[in-house]
Amino acid sequence: MSESTGQVVRVSGPLVVARGLEGARMYEMVRVGELRLFGEIIEIRGELVSVQVYEETEGIRPGEPVVRTGAPLSVELGPGLVGSIYDGVQRPLDKLRASFGDFIVRGAEAHALDREKTWHFVPRAKKGDKVSEGDIIGVVQETPPVEHRIMVPPGLSGVIEEISEKDARVDEPVAVLDKGDGSSVPLAMMQKWPVRSPRPSAEELPPSEPLLTGQRVIDMLFPMVAGGAACVPGPFGSGKTVIQHQFAKWAAADIIVYVGCGERGNEMTDVLMEFPELTDPRTGRPLMERTVLVANTSNMPVAAREASVYTGITMAEYFRDMGYSVALMADSTSRWAEAMREMSGRLEEMPGEEGYPAYLVSRLASFYERSGRVKCLGRPEREATLTVIGSVSPPGGDFSEPVVQGTLRLTKVFWGLDDKLAFQRHFPAINWLTSYSLFRDLVDARLAETVDPRWGENRREAMAILKREAELEEVVRLVGMDSLAPPDRLLLEGAKMIREDFLHQNAFDPADTYTSLKKQFLLLDLVLGYYRRAREALGKGAPLEALLGLAVKEKISRAKLIPESRLDEFKALAAEMDKEIAAVATRGGAK
Ligand code: ADP
Repeated sequence: MSESTGQVVRVSGPLVVARGLEGARMYEMVRVGELRLFGEIIEIRGELVSVQVYEETEGIRPGEPVVRTGAPLSVELGPGLVGSIYDGVQRPLDKLRASFGDFIVRGAEAHALDREKTWHFVPRAKKGDKVSEGDIIGVVQETPPVEHRIMVPPGLSGVIEEISEKDARVDEPVAVLDKGDGSSVPLAMMQKWPVRSPRPSAEELPPSEPLLTGQRVIDMLFPMVAGGAACVPGPFGSGKTVIQHQFAKWAAADIIVYVGCGERGNEMTDVLMEFPELTDPRTGRPLMERTVLVANTSNMPVAAREASVYTGITMAEYFRDMGYSVALMADSTSRWAEAMREMSGRLEEMPGEEGYPAYLVSRLASFYERSGRVKCLGRPEREATLTVIGSVSPPGGDFSEPVVQGTLRLTKVFWGLDDKLAFQRHFPAINWLTSYSLFRDLVDARLAETVDPRWGENRREAMAILKREAELEEVVRLVGMDSLAPPDRLLLEGAKMIREDFLHQNAFDPADTYTSLKKQFLLLDLVLGYYRRAREALGKGAPLEALLGLAVKEKISRAKLIPESRLDEFKALAAEMDKEIAAVATRGGAK
């Protein structure tokens, strides 16, 4: 036996303890057993090494070999990523299926990037150029919307000795670099990167721009910024998947990375079936042309969920490094946390809250902290963002449990999905009382410049009305509607209109699925305009019933369907409303 081979001592589900792996390092990849299953070293105690195995360990016996690979879990980065569907250790699922059938054979190996396919490389650097890490030396049109930028890998620099336009495979040299120390290295389009280490950037910058989604409750009330991170907890059926699809389709991101840590096989099947069917509304072409999917298949054990999260974020960082705005969605991080809990239990570590390991939050942080806005390494100078949306599925919808709470410490946006709203079919079921975005002021300031100076003012008024509604509902529950004074009853009507005519948004209606910022502003301004003017008229003695029964309200309720090309209709509608209210006010005043 060579010195890099040890033996299995004990198998406990996804955990394999081995000995005889001298010199092994934390997070090194090993191959376990005769079947050569994929595993990663997660603990070293004296001569005993604990390995989390990313494949089913059934049948593995003590004494079987464990082989060191000398390398940490790494991903391949290069043309061919976009449109791919990978498992947690970046094996292409379609290729594996083609060769092994639906149930992937354990220990199966397949390159993440196709080694046969050629790509047309167009140089952006020339012979004699001095280049260093991150410099873009050429491009490949990977899919119609995605230009794949080939960069000098981190840690390398020198002078271009040779470079040419050509069709090449990912591992073939497209350039030769003279390192200046008397040696030269060939540069291929593919590079590798260890998934647990963040890819370097020149500088970390604070987020500065809104990441608009066309979803009214998000953009108006709880906005996201490019480079931010959000936590989206929600029970089953509350609309997590629809929100993620909407985000993938409409958010102003160039590249989407979707990581599915499903528990049940069918959750993942949904993603695998549905995503490839989605069209990109901006181009009318398949959304997969700017998407990478990572999905745990049902026959992969819990440990693979951890790998999939890191695999996904590393690919996302790589596209960020090219200068793109990247959005990564992870669904559901609870499955990953459960995997941590299981591994920690098997390692017999001291459990923290609800059995999760004490390092739960630091582990979640190592993921969320890779989001952000950066100045990329290399030339040409470029900035880029990586936005992370993590969904959480707390048992029983309980937001006080450790994974939700831990995530909230790391993210500045919280979209709390509510099963009561979903049950009433109020979608998106984002609870306006519990959700928040700490980027509100930043976004308000930006949109005051680009959309309307009253953007922030309107948002604050809408939120105040919704909060007051919740208080009044409490009063109504206790003493009945009749006890409310007319101004309060009018407020309830205003709140209802904000909810139904503005916040409610049907993802499946082509006229409603996306709303431009201008239209969002006009729509909310119309609804608030009704409330403001009616309140004024009420103060002057106009009868409440007449104000509640205005004919124009029917039109206001349909205003969200006004096409983007006919936004001037809002003005006419506002004028009509003013006229009706004025008529009622005169009547009231005459009484
Ligand atoms: P989850 O992923 O949380 O289990 P889904 O995203 O599958 O929930 O949503 C459940 C159902 O709710 C969807 O099939 C759809 O009918 C409805 N729904 C959710 N969001 C919306 C929306 N924005 N517009 C219309 N219907 C929605």
